[in-house]
Amino acid sequence: PLPDAAAEAQVRAEDRAHVFHSWSAQALIDPLPIAAGEGSTFWDYQGNAYLDFSSQLVNLNLGHQHPDLVAAIQQQAGRLATIQPSMASDVRSELARRIAEVAPGDLDKVFFTNGGADANEYAVRMARAVTGRRKVLSMYRSYHGGTATAISLTGDPRRWANEPSDGSVAHFMGPYAYRSPFHSETPEQEAERALAHLEQLIVLEGANTIAAIIIETIVGTNGVLVPPPGYLQGVRALCDKYGIVYIADEVMVGFGRIGEWFAVNAFDVVPDLITFAKGVNSGYVPLGGVVISQRIAAHFDTVSFQGGLTYSGHPLACAAGVATFEVFERDGILERVRDLGSRVVEPRLREIAVKHPSVGEIRGAGLFWAIELVRDPATHEPLVPFNAGGADAAPMAAVAAACKQAGLWPFIHFNRMHVAPPLVITEEELVRGLDIIDEALTIADGYVV
Ligand code: PLP
Repeated sequence: PLPDAAAEAQVRAEDRAHVFHSWSAQALIDPLPIAAGEGSTFWDYQGNAYLDFSSQLVNLNLGHQHPDLVAAIQQQAGRLATIQPSMASDVRSELARRIAEVAPGDLDKVFFTNGGADANEYAVRMARAVTGRRKVLSMYRSYHGGTATAISLTGDPRRWANEPSDGSVAHFMGPYAYRSPFHSETPEQEAERALAHLEQLIVLEGANTIAAIIIETIVGTNGVLVPPPGYLQGVRALCDKYGIVYIADEVMVGFGRIGEWFAVNAFDVVPDLITFAKGVNSGYVPLGGVVISQRIAAHFDTVSFQGGLTYSGHPLACAAGVATFEVFERDGILERVRDLGSRVVEPRLREIAVKHPSVGEIRGAGLFWAIELVRDPATHEPLVPFNAGGADAAPMAAVAAACKQAGLWPFIHFNRMHVAPPLVITEEELVRGLDIIDEALTIADGYVV
């Protein structure tokens, strides 16, 4: 797109006057007006191109303006733009069948929602109805969404200002080898001790009060924390032992992010419920949902499920979801993600970690990685404090600014930069983006003691 200062000024003025933005002090932000997007790139109104290494909010798995998704939405809009959820719709049925086919174990029914937060709300509601219990356990360092129960489940500072919303949530520490809360020295120890901690919490909270445990299969925004071998299987075993429903939140990692339809497949574990959103249709039309095991679904064969949304399984969203399956299969997206992750991203990040003293650890899988930045590699002191804002966050802001200046839109959270580009990114773009990160990290190195 050509630069257009007049259009930019109007978008910005109307935005500033009338749009109320998420998670922000309204007077302290300056949202960048975006003119266009294609594939892994988007453009501002000044003609600057940004290679999107955050896939927007880690949802744009098939990139901007994917022709198959756009066509599917256009065709569906021309055929039947909307139909309410208590009727059956061809695209909704087809998408549910396709999701059931790639879901693990006996998870074979889908309740559709409008996004990730409400998917988690409904998963918890199902678990409560089935168990007759109310409490839910979730991890510190997690994000499960912005609505009442989902924000209560969340284990990061976004919960603090929203308390108390749902009093029946208790938080536990998950595995995090680089900053082990259990002082472990090996991944095996970390898994074992994290499970012992979780079991102790279950006992202390009262197993017969706990409806569900909800876990991001790989913790997303809070650090791309990949669970050590055996951890999720141990969670499954604890849930079985105490009659607790295991909910896997795959809103961020589902649909290809790590080269699997569902990330639990990589860990050989079958939850009772899986929640999804984002990558199911790259967010072209809002869509999320809960994949339900036969055991849980059977409970609602004769007991009414008390929940619903006017737009549950919206045909435009489902049409984009069906097209997503077709593109994934035709273009070998899962294989591509595994290949690019292991052949291009991982080796390059390992080099970057050796070269830059500010890099404490890199970790991830597929096209989902974290670069954890530190001020002191010996003590692991983070480059900026937990929940840093304003002047405290300056070192990270400087790294982000350098990336943007060089044409890369980074994902930054606290002291980490995440690498989460669209799954359709070309190898050339991927290498170019990693080059920019490599260069920008010299700024972080300047803060190392
Ligand atoms: N769960 C996880 C793991 C997420 O990353 C997110 C969003 O970032 C959500 C839930 C909430 O999804 P939504 O913003 O679509 O409500």
